[in-house]
Amino acid sequence: VQAVFRSNLSHLLDLMGSGKESLIFMKKRTKRLTAQWVLAAQRLAQKLGATWRDQKQILVHIGFLTEESGDVFSPRVLKGGPLGEMVQWADILAALYVLGHGLRVTVSLKELQSNLGVPPGRGSCPLTIPLPFDLIYTDYHGLQQMKQHMGLSFKKYRCRIRVIDTFGTEPAYNHEEYATLHGYRTNWGYWNLNPKQFMTMFPHTPDNSFMGFVSEELNETEKQLIKGGKASNMAVVYGKEASIWKGKEKFLGILNKYMEIHGTVYYESQRPPEVPAFVKNHGLLPQPEFQQLLRKAKLFIGFGFPYEGPAPLEAIANGCIFLQSRFSPPHSSLNHEFFRGKPTSREVFSQHPYAENFIGKPHVWTVDYNNSEEFEAAIKAIMTTQVDPYLPYEYTCEGMLERIHAYIQHQDFCTAPGPAPQGAHAPQSPFVLAPNATHLEWAQNASLTPGAWPPVNSLRAWLAVPGRACTDTCLDHGLICEPSFFPFLNSQDAFLKLQVPCDSTESEMNHLYPAFAQPGQECYLQKEPLLFSCAGSNTKYRRLCPCRDFRKGQVALCQGCL
Ligand code: UDP
Repeated sequence: VQAVFRSNLSHLLDLMGSGKESLIFMKKRTKRLTAQWVLAAQRLAQKLGATWRDQKQILVHIGFLTEESGDVFSPRVLKGGPLGEMVQWADILAALYVLGHGLRVTVSLKELQSNLGVPPGRGSCPLTIPLPFDLIYTDYHGLQQMKQHMGLSFKKYRCRIRVIDTFGTEPAYNHEEYATLHGYRTNWGYWNLNPKQFMTMFPHTPDNSFMGFVSEELNETEKQLIKGGKASNMAVVYGKEASIWKGKEKFLGILNKYMEIHGTVYYESQRPPEVPAFVKNHGLLPQPEFQQLLRKAKLFIGFGFPYEGPAPLEAIANGCIFLQSRFSPPHSSLNHEFFRGKPTSREVFSQHPYAENFIGKPHVWTVDYNNSEEFEAAIKAIMTTQVDPYLPYEYTCEGMLERIHAYIQHQDFCTAPGPAPQGAHAPQSPFVLAPNATHLEWAQNASLTPGAWPPVNSLRAWLAVPGRACTDTCLDHGLICEPSFFPFLNSQDAFLKLQVPCDSTESEMNHLYPAFAQPGQECYLQKEPLLFSCAGSNTKYRRLCPCRDFRKGQVALCQGCL
């Protein structure tokens, strides 16, 4: 069946159920953004023209909202607790619905069981029952519940699952045996899924799929109006919880010399002691009122927490400049409580790395807060800097629809790919050495693997310098790492073509392979396809990296990906 874009979201609101504060927040958001979604669908429909779109039957099981997993979020919606996840789930539901797919939404174990056809009351069903869904979107909590209650079906159907995973899961943590042997074991990883089945909030590592969310969009008239109405001395502090302000007196003091400081910190009856008296605290605002506040403000300022939320994108979309602190040394699961136990080694160099790296100046200023002069100079400069409201395409409704459409139509983790081509058995590599003799390009006359996605002709292979990860190596060349291309590079032939002088070649399980070790001139091939990883580096190795091009403002998709 062909999927048909939907323009009326009222049935989706019914599907989302009711009762919990979290669902109420999500439904309000969906309602508010309806016009924006519908317009985006029209634009995408036009762009895709006659492209066939399969209608999928989709189950969305929001595990963290189930009572069975403790649902610590819902009671905190109105008390300054995290809202980013709810923003994202609301947008995922809207996107799937607008794209025209068949949708079921569950937020309890009972509903999950009844939708899966598992008889209630039984802990787990030992039989494989046919799964009535082509796709299941869930989170780590939901994954655990499905494993417990689906019996043998879980193994059979787990390739249909997509895990919404804010911070990402790197391949080294995902592979159970490898993680256990090499100290990558956490509370979350070890599911042996294809790493692309994990979908993140921001494009952290391309080993996972970038899901994202949307921000409210402005039309030209609104943009002009906002630009004219900005108070150049008004600042809003990022963070709904009072604890964020603790120990920040010095910065607040400096900021207060130049600007009127506003906050949206939740409080019960009296001002939280962490928030100084000179701050105008509005309390936690409903989302539309928060947007209105951002429209008037010049500066949105972060004090280091929360990490990587939606609010800075909303601020920038509403014409604010975002000022944040650089982290030196970077925060990671090795040195920071918040990231501890998360299945990633990613190093976070500022409060919002996406804002820093994908948006940057003039919208985003990342400075060393320990240096008071630098901090003060930034504030002064920001007050006289003119910026236009800006929202990257991938965070618009159209961008999100386009991306999810491409994933749904092209990502297939159920049809097993052949074993990674290796060593002498590898097929003749279809690459030629680029004229500048540093990277490999797909030979124009080579036959394309039909149906492969992303299409292999977008591949550009680079040999990284020692100690550099493939994520960074590709970015260095204006490209993005594409893990699904690793099998094409995992051969002696690829090393040969890159004129790497291998004295010997070995095949092992290591998430940094294929790679070349300078001392000893040894070449290493990857033995376990699940361990192909863009992330990761070691000064011992020069990694062989599969890179590809990407669309401007849509890093998840290559030029020929639609
Ligand atoms: N937000 C809100 N009221 C406020 C402040 C923020 O509704 O007073 C919303 C904001 O619009 C954003 C969401 O909270 O979409 C999550 O923002 P944040 O970046 O703080 O991420 P979190 O830590 O909550 O996941």
